[in-house]
Amino acid sequence: MYRYALKVYGCQMNVYDGDKMKTALKERGWTEVHEEEADVVILNGCSIRDKAEQKVWSDLGRFAPRWERERKPFVAVTGCVAQNVGRKMAARFPWVRFVSGPRHIGAVPDGLEKLMASPGEIFLFLDDDPRAFIELPGAPVERVNPWKAFVTISHGCDNFCSYCIVPYVRGRFVSRPPEDILEEMRTLAADGVLEITLLGQNVNSYGKDFTNGYTFADLLRDGALKTGVRLLRFATSHPRDFTPDIVEVMAEHSSVICPSINLPIQSGSDRVLALMNRGYTVEQYRAVVSAIRSRLPGVGLTTDLIVGHPGETEEDYRESLKVLEEFRFDLVHSAAYSPREGTGAARREDQVPHREKMARLNGVNILQSRIAREINESLVGSFFPVLLDDFAPRGDGLLQGRTPSDKVVLVEAGEEMLGRFVRVEITRADNWCLSGRIVENGK
Ligand code: SF4
Repeated sequence: MYRYALKVYGCQMNVYDGDKMKTALKERGWTEVHEEEADVVILNGCSIRDKAEQKVWSDLGRFAPRWERERKPFVAVTGCVAQNVGRKMAARFPWVRFVSGPRHIGAVPDGLEKLMASPGEIFLFLDDDPRAFIELPGAPVERVNPWKAFVTISHGCDNFCSYCIVPYVRGRFVSRPPEDILEEMRTLAADGVLEITLLGQNVNSYGKDFTNGYTFADLLRDGALKTGVRLLRFATSHPRDFTPDIVEVMAEHSSVICPSINLPIQSGSDRVLALMNRGYTVEQYRAVVSAIRSRLPGVGLTTDLIVGHPGETEEDYRESLKVLEEFRFDLVHSAAYSPREGTGAARREDQVPHREKMARLNGVNILQSRIAREINESLVGSFFPVLLDDFAPRGDGLLQGRTPSDKVVLVEAGEEMLGRFVRVEITRADNWCLSGRIVENGK
């Protein structure tokens, strides 16, 4: 049968789509192998930032020598990078013979098999209808991690934030039916998954396209009560749509739904938030944070922040620094604005010079490093339940897991402890992670 290799770039949604493709191909008898032995290499790529897209472009160049020698592997470009620039990639590299946008994921296995049978062809499956979606049925039981899984709950986004390419490359917002999601969660739990993260570009919008009033809070409650999953997380939230019922469900089911929320603020300036088309002010954001923190003490709150959006002045930037001091986020995913062709912000003439953007990004990172270290140091001596779910990327004999509030914890432990819940005392704090010692072995 056929042999394939798959490489995933970018966000958790791409990891999930990659796992679904692996599962479907395995069911058809395909074997996953190293890239050097593959008949087909699938690059499931991201297009959200220019840097992510460039990675796929540069990886594509590597296939030239083997293609010249053996006329294989052929490369399948999938995901939002395919939707954005897949056509150009196929025109430039003869080994790119398959291109599929993210809403055509269900067409990938059949398409690849047809192409293997007729290697002279090129298939371009682009998402011309931004509402259509070809689903790949079944839970992703072939996973990168045996104990953790992602489950996508919605596709696309209708918000059209000025800087964001998502609505153009992932299409319009569509919620998956709750029964499909819950069934997938049950299958994963039965397959040994202990922690599930529900994914959407804006999870709080879940159900807005239903007529029966079923909401994200309902899905969270059903996920906690009816699937057998031990831990439940979700990402990403939109401050405008974060309603009090979500906080209530999190508080009611706190033994399953982890108290951690990513709530992207994006800017501390109301003027820039309006330019970004975010749909809230800092004051409204403040009210949401206050409701969350008063009902969920100890909640982990992270955010996304962009510096250098077109039109952002030095004063606006200072406002962003101020909100970081005020809200004291556990983690800030900071980025310098990167223009994406076709978006409103990319067309503006008041672009901030690159050097200025980098200086502002540096300022944010220095400030946030201090805040994160202070928060983390305050946790030394505390105890947390932690699911050990992976080897630490650096450090022999270290495993890693996360606190319920989503802080990475490193502990000394043997491989046999992977997939176990343990109780950990925090013994050391760094800017970006904690270290601890196991005080109680769980199951
Ligand atoms: S809500 Fe998120 S995904 Fe949707 S347009 Fe805005 S930034 Fe992009």
